[in-house]
Amino acid sequence: MRAIGAGSVGATLYASLYLAVAAQQFTRYAHPAGMDLTMAGIVPRDAIRILVRALWPVLLTTNATLLAFYAATGFILGWFAARFWAAVAGAQGRALPRWLELTLVAASLLAVAALAFATVVVRYPFLYDHLLNAEGGLPRRVQAFLTRWAAPGALEASLWALIGVLALPTLVRLALRRPVAGAVALAGALGLVGWHPSARAIGLNEGPNVVLIFLESARSDFFSINGHPELTSPRLDRLVAKGGVTFTDAWAHANSTVASVVTVMTSAYAYRHGMRSMFHGDEFARPALRRLPALLHDEGFATRVVTDWDGDVTYLNERVLPGFDRYDVAEFGMISYVKQIYSQHFLFLALTDNRLGHRAFSTFYRAGGGYAPAGSDLYYRARIEQNLAELGRTRRFFLTLFFADPHFNYRCGYPYYGRFTDPDYEGPNKYQAMSNPTVDAVSGREREREARQIRGLYAGCVNELDDNIGFVADTLRRLGLDRRTLLVVTGDHGERLPDRWSFRYGRNGAWLDPDQFHVPLVFIHPPVPVAQPVVAATVRHIDIMPTILELLGLPVPPDLDGTSLVPLIRGATADLHLDVFGETGFQWVPAKPPYLSYPPMTEVISFRRDEGGALLPRYFLDRSCLARMNLARHRFIRRGRYELTYRPTVDGAEVALYDWQTDPALTRNLAARRPEVAAELTGRLFRWALGDPELTVRQGWLAARDPDALARCAPPQSG
Ligand SMILES: [Zn+2]
Repeated sequence: MRAIGAGSVGATLYASLYLAVAAQQFTRYAHPAGMDLTMAGIVPRDAIRILVRALWPVLLTTNATLLAFYAATGFILGWFAARFWAAVAGAQGRALPRWLELTLVAASLLAVAALAFATVVVRYPFLYDHLLNAEGGLPRRVQAFLTRWAAPGALEASLWALIGVLALPTLVRLALRRPVAGAVALAGALGLVGWHPSARAIGLNEGPNVVLIFLESARSDFFSINGHPELTSPRLDRLVAKGGVTFTDAWAHANSTVASVVTVMTSAYAYRHGMRSMFHGDEFARPALRRLPALLHDEGFATRVVTDWDGDVTYLNERVLPGFDRYDVAEFGMISYVKQIYSQHFLFLALTDNRLGHRAFSTFYRAGGGYAPAGSDLYYRARIEQNLAELGRTRRFFLTLFFADPHFNYRCGYPYYGRFTDPDYEGPNKYQAMSNPTVDAVSGREREREARQIRGLYAGCVNELDDNIGFVADTLRRLGLDRRTLLVVTGDHGERLPDRWSFRYGRNGAWLDPDQFHVPLVFIHPPVPVAQPVVAATVRHIDIMPTILELLGLPVPPDLDGTSLVPLIRGATADLHLDVFGETGFQWVPAKPPYLSYPPMTEVISFRRDEGGALLPRYFLDRSCLARMNLARHRFIRRGRYELTYRPTVDGAEVALYDWQTDPALTRNLAARRPEVAAELTGRLFRWALGDPELTVRQGWLAARDPDALARCAPPQSG
């Protein structure tokens, strides 16, 4: 049986391809999960040792699944190709010599692999950046050519067309010999591909419903709705124009995800809810605090949270935010990292990044995202659609969503990476921000070019967020739910991007740039008349929960830190004169002297092991460092036209006052010229900060209650 022989050749060929990709992951790419653990100070060899020792069962099953997929695919395609070339030769009345047949089979399989590679290289170019763009020279030019001129949809269609052509003689033969079996197989395949959740709500839903959307690292001024000169958020622009409101001066209180999300859900500052960084495990949560989901659950809402990979790190789980009936949250952690090795296997990705593949390999696609966001939007959207269809059959519901697209380092797939960037750009940041933000070495025109490219990548990711919001709005409309659903959109925090003052980007616990705290905030609520679509008054994350409750006609608990924004929405007042307070999170890069810092991440964080010694997908924070880490936060107050910043130093603090209306980048310190304003704002900032039971005032500065605490976690250089 010659087809079996050809199938074996195909299986061997693709198994070798699998091994080649796996080998470069473990050696050249240096980290098996596609995540750069050097960020955490873990050198590649250690990372691999830790992963292999702790997670070998996941590594083994993941790799075994991928290897089996490659071998099976190679066998089937080899079989198809042998039949195809035999049919071609037969049509000319010839028989192929064995060597020629095997050569043609191998060439066919390599052509399929090449198309698969091209598809993925254009759709998710950052996944192969290290092999192509980063290499420079010919590899860089090949990738640039492909991403400039080829469309992944067309490449994917050619891939399937080629497979279809190769399979044709086999399928015809099957249909002729076993027509019933052939028809059943075809119907089954079409049914699986065309599978779709029920599209209509069944009349039970009365509303009002709430959909609260968090956008990762969403910086207000990059949305065209808030004045960005390029059309980055056309969907949001239209939604607001039709009866919504955007707050252009909305603020987060933290520049970290977990602290922000829990603050929005509790209307409590982080020192009240306890979740002050992603390293604060569940045991820091304060379950006695009333949460929005629990409150709405008690009011008869079906409550659900559906997120991409970022949801779990946000601790949208029952231990931190009880009250959701269902947590459809992708797990984030080392196990997910390991599973993400699938995204490097381009043949697997190209053939399974579709509805059918997402269902068959949901364990991989659920883990996807994060540092390898392959296919996550498509997969995530299907889950949102399914959940909304189910919720549409409840009386009223509260749904929380979380989109992570613009997460540092701005890896967004086709077509977003090319939307706002220069097609002629050549360099390390072509498909993701690869420059080291802590090194400000590039200078002059080169620096300007890299800064523009990174900002363009980020703007593209904002555009992807906007498309996702549009998808949610479309789904609500299709289900007939849009007229009775309150849609709330905000960022978990902002983002620092290179500009004319500094090249650094991302977020850090020693950076107080306003851009890291300035977030979009949009309310779209059809039944409530909106006075004007754009409100410039200062508003805050803590105000979201009371606003939602008032819009729903529910009582607002008295102990919330925030206040309802409904008077601004209705136009009853033009300004609520709110003070904004904020604090930085974890120092990924330790602060430089004289600022207060603590030892680097690798020394204050460890992976947690359970009793059996297995690695848990959570980190553990060295508790002896908590007091120092807390005091080391940089803090600010924004009131009226002024912003006052407070940066703790080794023996006190540095206080600065800025007029953000005339000096938005906060470059001119007015503290000496306006001492009365500085004193007034310092007093307000201290009163706010002292809500934290761990802080006190000593010698005129904020201080840790336990005076010995600071010494326990001093970084090596400060002795
Ligand atoms: Zn975040």
